[in-house]
Amino acid sequence: MRPLVATVDLAAIVHNYRLAKRCAPGRQAFAVVKANAYGHGVREVVSALHEEADGFAVASLEEAAEVRALHGEARILLLEGCFAAEELPMAAQLNLDLVLQGCEQVEALLAARLPRPLNVWLKLDSGMHRLGLAADAVRALHPRLRGAAQVAELNLMSHFACADERGHALTEAQLECFLDLLDLDFDQRSLANSAALLTIPAAHMDWLRPGIMLYGATPFAELSAAELGLRPVMSLTAQLIAVREVAAGESVGYGASWVAERPSRIGTVSCGYADGYPRHAPSGTPLLVGGQRAALVGRVSMDMLTVDLTDLPEARVGDAVELWGASLPVDEVAQAAGTIGYELLTKVTARVPRRYTQG
Ligand SMILES: *Cc1c(COP(=O)(O)O)cnc(C)c1O
Repeated sequence: MRPLVATVDLAAIVHNYRLAKRCAPGRQAFAVVKANAYGHGVREVVSALHEEADGFAVASLEEAAEVRALHGEARILLLEGCFAAEELPMAAQLNLDLVLQGCEQVEALLAARLPRPLNVWLKLDSGMHRLGLAADAVRALHPRLRGAAQVAELNLMSHFACADERGHALTEAQLECFLDLLDLDFDQRSLANSAALLTIPAAHMDWLRPGIMLYGATPFAELSAAELGLRPVMSLTAQLIAVREVAAGESVGYGASWVAERPSRIGTVSCGYADGYPRHAPSGTPLLVGGQRAALVGRVSMDMLTVDLTDLPEARVGDAVELWGASLPVDEVAQAAGTIGYELLTKVTARVPRRYTQG
């Protein structure tokens, strides 16, 4: 078997969910499991949180159906609502919590004949300008939705654009915009993603929506997952499959883009961009060989990448290589590669087998 595996620590996910709840005592939390639980495997993550989570949040009806099959009772929040009116009967059948993010979705719901009323989350565009209704539209629609046969709970939600940058002026403005609407009668309110949950108690409201923090990565550039008390969840582990000596002046890899400045020992690692490792990670991006730090050199190829072992003379073919994980934060690799932990985790491809552990 190809030596590459993504090991997922399910006990760490439970730890991180509990930490989220401890940050906001008395509130409930949708565990965000969209995009195959940020690449970790939705079936295993939902099962691990089965007794723990107050609810789950997903991005599509297909994802919602998968979660419902695993959990008959949980509240499941459909974050972008239905993409077409034809999806509404299925949303009702699955007993979803339905976001209404635009006037088309509101009108489609009010025109639908459904087998049962749904919990509705009216989404306010408080300043991100991606989804949601303007504050005056929320006000105008409130009485119609309050009296509608299709609506069980009528709830309010919104989403921050910059909660990961502490003290950002837009966050303050978005919070104010949200609070301004709370003279209206809503059953439940939800505003906080991981970043807001961790740093903005005034945004906690009734229901939290933690995503990235459950997976042991930080939403912040300047605050590490370890500093937040989060436990790493996914370790992406490969092996050294070849080692060679390269003379000074010789190049390594496609494009001959990296040239040895000294006589070098170069290792080849069984992980490449077809596994989800970022192709644009520059030379110098850290990885761990036999637990020791080493630097990526040359271009990442489809199935392999190369590493400078010159300062690790004891490294041998067969040694374990951690691309990120328990001993090398995914956020550090992401930063080196000019991206965020979210992208690295969600992009680990299907050909990488997931192994599940309990700590
Ligand atoms: C994905 C998502 C979240 C979770 O965000 P994190 O930054 O991963 O915590 C919360 N709310 C909405 C609307 C989302 O789309």
